[in-house]
Amino acid sequence: MILRMSQLFVRTLRDDPADAEVPSHRLLVRAGYIRRTAPGMYTWLPLGLRVFRKVEAIVREEMDAMGAQELQFPALLPREPYEATNRWTEYGDSLFRLKDRKGGDYLLGPTHEEMFTLVVKDLYSSYKDLPVWLYQIQTKYRDEARPRAGLMRGREFVMKDSYSFDVTDEGLAASYEAHRAAYVRIFDRLNFDYAIVKATSGAMGGSRSEEFLARLDVGEDTYVRSPGGYAANVEAVTTPVPDALPYDDAPAAHAEDTPATPTIATLVDHLNEAFPREDRPWTAADTLKNVLVMLRHPDGTREPLAIGLPGDREVDQKRLEGQLEPTEVEPMTDDDIAAFPALVKGYIGPAYGGRTVLGEESESGIRYVVDPRVVEGTRWVTGANAPGQHVIDLVCGRDFTPDGTIEAAEVRAGDPAPDGSGPLELARGIEMGHVFQLGRKYAEALGLQVLDENGKLVTVTMGSYGVGVSRAVPVIAEYNHDELGLVWPREISPADVHLVAAGKDPSLFDEAQRIADELSASGLDVIYDDRRGKVSPGVKFKDAELIGVPTIVVVGKGLADGVVEVKDRRSGEREDVAVADVVARVLDAVRS
Ligand code: ATP
Ligand code: MG
Repeated sequence: MILRMSQLFVRTLRDDPADAEVPSHRLLVRAGYIRRTAPGMYTWLPLGLRVFRKVEAIVREEMDAMGAQELQFPALLPREPYEATNRWTEYGDSLFRLKDRKGGDYLLGPTHEEMFTLVVKDLYSSYKDLPVWLYQIQTKYRDEARPRAGLMRGREFVMKDSYSFDVTDEGLAASYEAHRAAYVRIFDRLNFDYAIVKATSGAMGGSRSEEFLARLDVGEDTYVRSPGGYAANVEAVTTPVPDALPYDDAPAAHAEDTPATPTIATLVDHLNEAFPREDRPWTAADTLKNVLVMLRHPDGTREPLAIGLPGDREVDQKRLEGQLEPTEVEPMTDDDIAAFPALVKGYIGPAYGGRTVLGEESESGIRYVVDPRVVEGTRWVTGANAPGQHVIDLVCGRDFTPDGTIEAAEVRAGDPAPDGSGPLELARGIEMGHVFQLGRKYAEALGLQVLDENGKLVTVTMGSYGVGVSRAVPVIAEYNHDELGLVWPREISPADVHLVAAGKDPSLFDEAQRIADELSASGLDVIYDDRRGKVSPGVKFKDAELIGVPTIVVVGKGLADGVVEVKDRRSGEREDVAVADVVARVLDAVRS
């Protein structure tokens, strides 16, 4: 196949698009692979579509090889199944909803658990039919709050989603392992570096769950790893809970004046000056910081929540949201605070002096959850619920009782791994795949049962497995580019060879055309830069480098001596090759 640059629907750009924050986005737009259509929506241009289809083919090959069967649902779906699982509500603002001419409710599918469950229910009724693994490669719609980085976080994107159906828990475990192994093969072929980390199961429910994160600093996920092999998304990291401390000898809580201490740092300085400890200086970790947020539930109702955590840690918004999903978290406004007269801004504490201010059974009635480090017997400095005052020696379990705990505090490098495998190290990545055991939640909600060996009806157990197919294109581009442009891995490249006719002489074009034909006849896909007239060789070279096909062949000045230049886009190595040998030489490069 030959793509002629004189006719190819592409315009390369010299300048970076104004809205592009990451290299892959800049280069995919500049090299003419994609065009923005609307926020979070992109058009695949011919070169981009070719790359996308290569990625899709790899995913499909590996899914077929593992024994999964491809089918395809509509993207436009009826409301009822999503109502039955409550996701019509739980998805909140992320769901694209629409009505048909009769006023019926529809949605654009964000993911298809419901539909797969129903189709299996429709057609299968016996344990003998199971296990079955089904998948589709399909366009999904999510009205993401923050679409970003081009195709990385779109509002329309392509996902490979598969689902396993088993009768037993052991069956589900085997289906999960088979998918996990297929994902390893897929991501190895896609040519980027990734980590497999423990994940929370989020809106889907279920138990075992792991994410495949491409290691990238531009990614939005943070994950941890320990020297002993623990790896988890920060959202899934659990805090080792310290033992309760004895507090029989603890002094009574006492409120003190702490004027002009608007921050934890100024409070700690004041404590060390006015109330020095004998054993060691006060630190931020001795203070109990109470953060107030508003929860917005999927049904639109709002509810306040108070979070108590050691003052040396911030609330990690993603961890907090991960714990509360599908509920969203909003900051508490001054108006919200004003609705609770018991709260003294800057001096909020759970309890003191016979008053209980935070907690379900308190003056404010605000639910109060604390970091797992706030265990019984720990002693804190916190707000005294009076202007300009803090309370010292407030003991958890004696002076206040939280309603529960929450994993909302930031995870820091050096924190201990929950399994005791050493200090944690932090890194960034972007989710490329997710495997998880859904269990029986969807089958129960939608009534998917089969007859077991004894003729008894049993509920089927499911797994759900996603790969970001369109997201893979920018992720591969992040891993495969240099300052000149894209540098595609062979298996992903839009063509096998980029042939440049560099000169004016018509006979040079004849020779280039002949080489292009011969390469194509050998089964290779060729981009042939056959542009004549004003397009200089310099412009053609720049375009070839930007577009990033791994082998570039230049038919130019050397032709007079019977040679053409074969260049490796990645290493930059050039070699003069006799015209008669060039096809064999390129075939070698492609097959190596
Ligand atoms: P993320 O945390 O990145 O939002 P997710 O947890 O919402 O991902 P899943 O619902 O598990 O993702 O979807 C399966 C896969 O689909 C993800 O692993 C990711 O590769 C891809 N994906 C999810 N959302 C998007 C999006 N908005 N744009 C492109 N790809 C996406
Ligand atoms: Mg998401």
